[in-house]
Amino acid sequence: MEYIDQLETICEKYDCPLLRNEPLRKHTTFRIGGECRAFVDINSSSLLRELVGYCKENGVRYLILGNGSNVIVSDEGYDGVVFVVGKNFSGIEIMNDYQIRCDAGAMLMTAAKAALEESYSGMECLAGIPGTVGGALYMNAGAYGGEMADVVLSAEYIDDDGSVKTVAGKDMELSYRHSMFSGTDKIIISVTFQLRAGRYDAIKTEMEGYLSQRRAKQPLELPSAGSTFKRPEGSYASFLIDQCGLKGASVGDAQVSTKHAGFIVNTGKATCKDVLELCEFVIETVKEKTGYKLELEPVVLR
Ligand SMILES: Cc1cc2nc3c(=O)[nH]c(=O)nc-3n(C[C@H](O)[C@H](O)[C@H](O)COP(=O)(O)OP(=O)(O)OC[C@H]3O[C@@H](n4cnc5c(N)ncnc54)[C@H](O)[C@@H]3O)c2cc1C
Repeated sequence: MEYIDQLETICEKYDCPLLRNEPLRKHTTFRIGGECRAFVDINSSSLLRELVGYCKENGVRYLILGNGSNVIVSDEGYDGVVFVVGKNFSGIEIMNDYQIRCDAGAMLMTAAKAALEESYSGMECLAGIPGTVGGALYMNAGAYGGEMADVVLSAEYIDDDGSVKTVAGKDMELSYRHSMFSGTDKIIISVTFQLRAGRYDAIKTEMEGYLSQRRAKQPLELPSAGSTFKRPEGSYASFLIDQCGLKGASVGDAQVSTKHAGFIVNTGKATCKDVLELCEFVIETVKEKTGYKLELEPVVLR
């Protein structure tokens, strides 16, 4: 395919490999997803800008992936190019005034540990979310009463026209699992956190407390995309699903976790079709029995 050769030539300039027909199940925490045409784990923002510029000019489909922990990828895969903003673009810089600047591919856990080493407080509750800082900002990830909105000072992003812009946290339209980036073509390339002075021991204890709560309550031993449904106003998805007796319900190898009803897990060789059928069944049953309309939290990529 000619466009892939062109993209490969761009990648060669940056000494970055391009993989063809890469199975996306290898790059999602659900371990689900067919092949994409081409796959680049980008190593700089300049490379990303050039690749995206080429795709836009030539009408090539592309999508951005972080750690793949909030996506459900189709069994047919993706008929286009996948750019990963992940481990190869994950620098972290400690700044003055309790600030930390991270390339968008840095994992939240790594950023939180860097903050801990400096005794900067604010990221304790975010540490266990298995995403990149870019993916976390995209959907304003949060846990245990905190969210990205509380600690994001600013971000740099590639805008629709290819220019790099900076936006302040207060202007990012951050609300429950939403940001100005959600559903747009904008690509986050760095995030600066504003933290505050803390005590090393207190930060460490709080962080470890949240991590052990996760290990105790969440089915971390099985592949998943985390909470499958958004929190409906006035209740909790896991509570409603449990009330409807749906723990353990399954379609193929997709199962409502017996440990935490809010998670659908992959117990073996679940397909995207299995997961979406099970989601549909859960949504219908919960609606019928409780009146609440659940919505999917992960992004479905086709
Ligand atoms: C076990 C488990 C526990 C979890 N716990 C939580 C939790 O407590 N709280 C919570 O909020 N979430 C949780 N999640 C979900 C997930 O980890 C978060 O949503 C995380 O922020 C997603 O980041 P990611 O890098 O994996 O993004 P991906 O899943 O790779 O991508 C998600 C979306 O963001 C977009 N995106 C990714 N990177 C960028 C970028 N640089 N620029 C623009 N768009 C981008 C993608 O295109 C996609 O639409 C959990 C998931 C798992 C598997």
